[in-house]
Amino acid sequence: MPRPSRAAALARARAFLARVPLLDAHNDLAYVVRESAAAGDLAAYDLSREHQETDTDIPRLKRGQLGGQFWAAFVPTDVDNPCRYTLELIALLRRMHAAHPDVFHPATRASDLARARKLGKIASFIAVESGVGLDNRLDLLALWHALGVRYLTLCHNETLDWVDSATDAPRHGGLTAFGRQVIAECNRLGILVDLAHTSHAAQMQALDIAAVPVAITHTNAFALVDHPRNVHDAVLDRIAANGGIICATFVETFSSQAVRDWKAAISDPWGKGLGHDMKGAMARQEAAAGPCPRATLAQVCDHLEYIAARAGLRHIGIGSDYYGARNPEGLEDVSCFPNLIAELMLRGWSEPNLARLASGNMLRVLRAVEKAAQAPKPAG
Ligand SMILES: [Zn+2]
Repeated sequence: MPRPSRAAALARARAFLARVPLLDAHNDLAYVVRESAAAGDLAAYDLSREHQETDTDIPRLKRGQLGGQFWAAFVPTDVDNPCRYTLELIALLRRMHAAHPDVFHPATRASDLARARKLGKIASFIAVESGVGLDNRLDLLALWHALGVRYLTLCHNETLDWVDSATDAPRHGGLTAFGRQVIAECNRLGILVDLAHTSHAAQMQALDIAAVPVAITHTNAFALVDHPRNVHDAVLDRIAANGGIICATFVETFSSQAVRDWKAAISDPWGKGLGHDMKGAMARQEAAAGPCPRATLAQVCDHLEYIAARAGLRHIGIGSDYYGARNPEGLEDVSCFPNLIAELMLRGWSEPNLARLASGNMLRVLRAVEKAAQAPKPAG
């Protein structure tokens, strides 16, 4: 049989995405808007026009046929007041939903994905990326949940007082007792625990104690690209028993070993950028080593297929991590989700497996988290 053409696959992918909603697990648009010249003013930023300098806006979300999105309230570890910053970004996301009621359907439950699709809208979930804004207090989690937060990425690029980051010196050998309490409280409230960014030891310990499925929402495979942010086989081998999900990401540094190697010269030993003058460092590295290589759609699909083969087809999802920077060729912005499905179709993925990847697996995880939150607590 002749190999179907890319154009035919793209047409099939578009028809598929019209039937099956794709739920992307991670997008940092709120942070991009907050840090833009508009400084968080949504009217000034104007999501209804195309922003060619970044990757996410309403016209391209529509072209990408996105069914649902976890919007991250991303909080850099070093902001002055992380507690306030977290609330600012949650508020920004809630204002974004309110400002575009014809586009975004505020979502807090798995069932909201189908409901939003029926209404012709994007199911819009809120996540918090980094627990730094907890200020080491457990009680704020219930407040975040009440505001609509449905997953928590425990940390970002830096180790916190209670959890080691994958890209920083470990201080706790993984999780502290408080870190374990955060996980238990998330389980109790119905907040999905996201282990992206946490150290390998923290991931293994979280899998030891999690009574509920966990997620790793934007991470690729360490076996293919040896960046500390990528997930090790030992974790992939355990995710099925937990019932959880690992969402492959588009971040170039995690997708391509050539990009990882090029950036290593301007990164600390943990793989994160040196200081605040990244533009200057990039220019110097370009002068020394030539232009930074590009990652590709095919490389992202290689990670996705590796994770699916190792963790299982019921434990894989997509977490683009569009954050306003350069993205792989073929996945430049949020209009490109059909390209990903088309590439997997060309690789022979069946439609039932594509449906699991697009949203079926994440819906199963969200339902499990919801059910556990409702369960009566054991006595004693
Ligand atoms: Zn992240």
